[in-house]
Amino acid sequence: MLNDISFILGAQRNPPAKLAMSTATVYIGAMRLAFTDSPLDHAGLNRSDAGWMDAQHRHDGARAVLFAGGALALGEDGAPLILPAREAAAMPLKWPGLIFLGLQDGAPWFAASLEPGVRERGPDFRMSAMHAPPDLTCIFARARAILLWAGRRRVCSNCGGSNEPVDGGLRLLCPSCGMEHYPRTDPSVIFLPYSGDRCVLGRQAGWPPGMYATLAGFVEPGETLEAACAREALEEIHLKALRAEYVASQPWPFPSSLMLGFMVEIEPGEVRPDDDLEDARWFSREEVRSLYDGEMARWSPRHFSISRLLVEHWLDTG
Ligand SMILES: [Zn+2]
Repeated sequence: MLNDISFILGAQRNPPAKLAMSTATVYIGAMRLAFTDSPLDHAGLNRSDAGWMDAQHRHDGARAVLFAGGALALGEDGAPLILPAREAAAMPLKWPGLIFLGLQDGAPWFAASLEPGVRERGPDFRMSAMHAPPDLTCIFARARAILLWAGRRRVCSNCGGSNEPVDGGLRLLCPSCGMEHYPRTDPSVIFLPYSGDRCVLGRQAGWPPGMYATLAGFVEPGETLEAACAREALEEIHLKALRAEYVASQPWPFPSSLMLGFMVEIEPGEVRPDDDLEDARWFSREEVRSLYDGEMARWSPRHFSISRLLVEHWLDTG
């Protein structure tokens, strides 16, 4: 039986032949799951040092990726606009200006949002990310999540004062009340419900015709990941979860989720989709294979989402 999903250490770029539970990186065959195995060193030990951060801005190899209206800004060649950091700093930037993302092979990356009208806005960010080289996809994702967060927090949510960027913009500090604001990551569970040799997939209205995927939802305060899976299974398809097994995670910068992927064994029974699903039903492995090899191959490339990884995992372990 084919089993080509591997979980390997971040430093190890060549996936092993067999599945091995380890830490950071997820591969499907030789393809790296999008947004995983980032090449960036976040420089957590240095970024609070203002002198060190100044040196990063002056670094000859410093680059900045620029955004326009939530999408990647485009250069005159139609490619994502990546400039030397000094040139980017001279452009009309939205508050808080250049944000430090991390180091790639010792060279700093920054990001910023351009004021409206400065440069053309690229296509939908998800489409851009789907087609960018894997390392750039990680950099773009981190940039977008942090820029969206910072852009909405110029005003302190505690006292209404004016926040100031510190640590290269990776932290905002309100001088009036002293409150520190950090970029947020919202945990979400994403899971494939299964029983025996069948699984349940659902679809939302508005998705491309014939597209079905795993179920997902945000984790609520006071909830474990397993409880979130069980609650979502009950809410979305009205079936009881029996067991949840963690598989892998994926940062999902739309805008700031961390998708925590599970296989969830559910009781067999009638699937009754919730109102926010257009359809949900049981599928056999053969049905899932023909679905994903057909029209859906265009909408859900194998490497892009953890939803697809969970489905492939289930197909391979049957
Ligand atoms: Zn404040």
